[in-house]
Amino acid sequence: MPVGTIHIVGAGLAGLSAAVHLTASGHKVVLYEAGQHAGGRCRSYHDKELDCLIDNGNHLMLSCNEAALSYLMMIGAEDTLQIAKGAIFPFMEIGSGKQWTIKMGQGRFPGWVFDKNARVPDTKWTDYLEAMKLTSADRWSHVNDCVDKKSVLYKRFWQPLCVAIMNTQAEEASAQVFGNVLREAFGAGGIGCKPVIVKEGLSQSFVEPAEAYLKERGTAIHYGKRLRSIEMEVDEIKTLHFVDQDVGLEHLDWVILALPAWVINDLMPTVPTPTSFRSIVNAHFKVAVPPKSETGILGVIGGHVEWVFEKPSMISTTTSAAEKIVDLSAEEIAALLWADIARVYGLNAEAVPPYRIVKEKRATFAATPEEIIRRPAIAARNTNLVVCGDWTNTGLPSTIEGAIRSGRSAAEQIIPPQTLAKI
Ligand SMILES: Cc1cc2nc3c(=O)[nH]c(=O)nc-3n(C[C@H](O)[C@H](O)[C@H](O)COP(=O)(O)OP(=O)(O)OC[C@H]3O[C@@H](n4cnc5c(N)ncnc54)[C@H](O)[C@@H]3O)c2cc1C
Repeated sequence: MPVGTIHIVGAGLAGLSAAVHLTASGHKVVLYEAGQHAGGRCRSYHDKELDCLIDNGNHLMLSCNEAALSYLMMIGAEDTLQIAKGAIFPFMEIGSGKQWTIKMGQGRFPGWVFDKNARVPDTKWTDYLEAMKLTSADRWSHVNDCVDKKSVLYKRFWQPLCVAIMNTQAEEASAQVFGNVLREAFGAGGIGCKPVIVKEGLSQSFVEPAEAYLKERGTAIHYGKRLRSIEMEVDEIKTLHFVDQDVGLEHLDWVILALPAWVINDLMPTVPTPTSFRSIVNAHFKVAVPPKSETGILGVIGGHVEWVFEKPSMISTTTSAAEKIVDLSAEEIAALLWADIARVYGLNAEAVPPYRIVKEKRATFAATPEEIIRRPAIAARNTNLVVCGDWTNTGLPSTIEGAIRSGRSAAEQIIPPQTLAKI
């Protein structure tokens, strides 16, 4: 079936992924983005006050994220990532001062759970059998239904892991989606669980190389184009009404809407979407001599900070499912988070360095069983429309991998998968 122009609305990672895959396969694509920049919830910018590049949020990936890695290879940006040498995750517990490092080894056999120096302290290898309950959970189970919430393993492993991956507390998070991530990650073994971060900034890895790739191949990107309504005729989109322009569709043209769930909810109320979201708070503290450990990341248990990222001129922190702190003032948040950092690194808690607090109130949808069933399949919704984004039914939580996969799947709805350019 011949395909006309493919109009993609939304230049976050889902929209960029769809555009890159379709452009690479030789199709005519036009991309429209409401903002002046692409990247959506995964971007970096120069912070004037701190005078340095910051990410809107520290993003952590795993080496098993195949769609994200192959997207980066397509746009020639694979060298912009920092992939750890091994699946090594250092932790510190604020209350007890205990420190440990999870070391998974390289292979598929989970030998690390049998080694008390490689697993969480004060746990037994049999505790980890709970992973089997998680990977076989039904769609209504919460993470807490599958694990012992009074156990040490819960406090030091399942709960922090769940919050980091799902951006949702374990008592309300979907065990099935959490289990999907565990199956992909642990199923790949240590080689698939290496932490991956960007070397410079999110935009320098995921966004700018994609924009350059598209422009070099003649795909136009129009910024400042906010879609405000869609005009249908029977079950076909006829016109896209942007704030300052109408775009009429020709016969055989397609539309991919790669927009956040709440925007789709406004524009197309008949499409089911998650309606409840969770926040993430990131703090960037500018320090003269930042600490430098082997991995550059540290998990923190029992504090307001959950992950610390050691950067060239900064200590950066992430607090996920941050409903408890997100409405505090930036000053209050900085004081709370710096107090944790001071304890972790033995610094002065009173001397808070220059900082930037970034609050993303709708960072991800709430990955609860009730919201998961509201995720629509990435399928052609009518004769010329496909909807994608991290909130559509990728089987994964709201992540870079989920967004990029959803964009690729949207492209596959329009052209046969075997003709789609892949790495
Ligand atoms: C603080 C934070 C930390 C995160 N940490 C991680 C992490 O560690 N690991 C991980 O894998 N993932 C993480 N994520 C999730 C990841 O960033 C998202 O899943 C992903 O970026 C979503 O991409 P998307 O394209 O689906 O949506 P979006 O990024 O929301 O893209 C949608 C685009 O549509 C545009 N748009 C909106 N309305 C309109 C309109 N009316 N007309 C035209 N354009 C419009 C927006 O401007 C945006 O560019 C994090 C997210 C946040 C916010």
